[in-house]
Amino acid sequence: MSVVIKGASILGQKTADVYVEDGVIREIGVSTGSTSGSDHSASEVIEADGLVLLPGLVDLHTHLREPGREDAETVLTGSQAAAAGGFTSVLAMANTNPVTDTAEAAERVLDLGREAGLVDVQPVGAVTKGLAGEELAELGLMARSRARVRVFSDDGKCVGDARVMRRALEYVKAFGGIISQHSQDPSLAPHASCCHEGPISGDLGLPGWPGVAEDVIVARDVMLARHTGSRVHVAHVSTAGSVEVIRWAKSQAKKDGTWEVTAEVTPHHLLLTTDLLRGYDPTYKVNPPLRPAEDVEALRAALADGTIDAVATDHAPHARHDKEHAFVDAAFGMLGLETALSVVGTVMVESGLLDWAGVARVMSTAPAAIAGLTGHGREIAVGEPANLALVDPSAAYVVDRNDSLSLARNNPWHGRTLTGRVVGTWLRGKRTFGA
Ligand SMILES: [Zn+2]
Repeated sequence: MSVVIKGASILGQKTADVYVEDGVIREIGVSTGSTSGSDHSASEVIEADGLVLLPGLVDLHTHLREPGREDAETVLTGSQAAAAGGFTSVLAMANTNPVTDTAEAAERVLDLGREAGLVDVQPVGAVTKGLAGEELAELGLMARSRARVRVFSDDGKCVGDARVMRRALEYVKAFGGIISQHSQDPSLAPHASCCHEGPISGDLGLPGWPGVAEDVIVARDVMLARHTGSRVHVAHVSTAGSVEVIRWAKSQAKKDGTWEVTAEVTPHHLLLTTDLLRGYDPTYKVNPPLRPAEDVEALRAALADGTIDAVATDHAPHARHDKEHAFVDAAFGMLGLETALSVVGTVMVESGLLDWAGVARVMSTAPAAIAGLTGHGREIAVGEPANLALVDPSAAYVVDRNDSLSLARNNPWHGRTLTGRVVGTWLRGKRTFGA
């Protein structure tokens, strides 16, 4: 099985023909237009003039809902949505039913991913049993299982108890693991909190979720990471305050060289703001909530300057009957896999904040490194696995939620025009998306 992708601009830079055989990049030749510079007769030829070739994207934060909520998403449909978004690997969050808090549960998710065969589904393990925040889950057994779990998170819930967080950080250090924290101080922002605390939450009469409830947990956790000499990852950063803390922590960690802080931002926190809640549309209910424009600006700048390492979708599919409620009663979360690259293209590339090499860094190289995925986020170079995403950088399109491959329809981008679109995805040389 072989394919040649002809005339694409690699990372938006040099133009070349990329020849793939048996899942590996075999040759990268000077593009000579319609006749290939190489003598290879590939079984498939992709004309890619004007397109950008990126390493396959890696999502640190996906909710696939299986097992337990197969009416919202399955590993198969989530994998299809991921492939359509240019992803070749996704980390599946642990808040399923049952929770991924044992080696068996992690292996089950891994196997479901392999059966689907469209992206490498890497299970995230729960930090605590049943996400209850009290007793550590089987971290070591999950790490030693076939699933080789390295990222642990109680996402959806914060590991609120500092002692539990400290123990978890100490534990995962032994095998190079990392704790991905959903930073939400439960005493400052209890579960019902659903709107950024400010004038709009007051106007709408919605329970406020103050930015400081995130900031204080980020501050606590970076100090715990330093104290334990371990690695903490801040999931879905949403405030300018967190950005300041992370910037400081990274400068300290760099000096010490013994601990590490990394962070991700979602596409929706890079573009959408609190004002959207004025219509009480539960599509815009997400945790952490959409923030004011000042926060959004700080997040964009932090992603551009490397303070925030990665973009992660927090793809959170929900069945209609869980989302179509009064705002306070609706489920938290929005779809993200299929549109992530387009949002980053629209927000970061069109504005000049990132070039395509920068997009490859924040959506592939950095997330793969954080998760310890050695087969992803690689250079586009001879001998490397052919995990690739082909992007039309100038394609502008109106998002239609009914075009989705996800089972769910809670798509906050419906009706918006985005620029930059994935047109093809390959997982180890196998076409997983695109005609
Ligand atoms: Zn979360």
